[in-house]
Amino acid sequence: MGYKVHVDQVKCIGCAQCYAVCPNKVFVIDDKKSIPANTDKCVGCRACIVRCPTAAIVIIPRDVEALYARFYAT
Ligand code: SF4
Ligand code: SF4
Repeated sequence: MGYKVHVDQVKCIGCAQCYAVCPNKVFVIDDKKSIPANTDKCVGCRACIVRCPTAAIVIIPRDVEALYARFYAT
């Protein structure tokens, strides 16, 4: 799918809300932290972002990411 999923490992408190709410099981909980292990399955519904109590999750459309890379490459 067309999104890159990032979890800020410092902000994440391991509550597993993102794991519970994601319809495509993008996240796994490992050592009390959320890992976006299946980011290719993200459909951009934003349910995880709404549910996360610490605003640890960011999703970026892959076409936007590619655009950034093109303009800000060093
Ligand atoms: S909902 Fe947020 S704080 Fe909770 S496990 Fe997921 S990323 Fe971490
Ligand atoms: S945006 Fe939706 S599909 Fe993507 S990781 Fe979050 S809950 Fe899962």
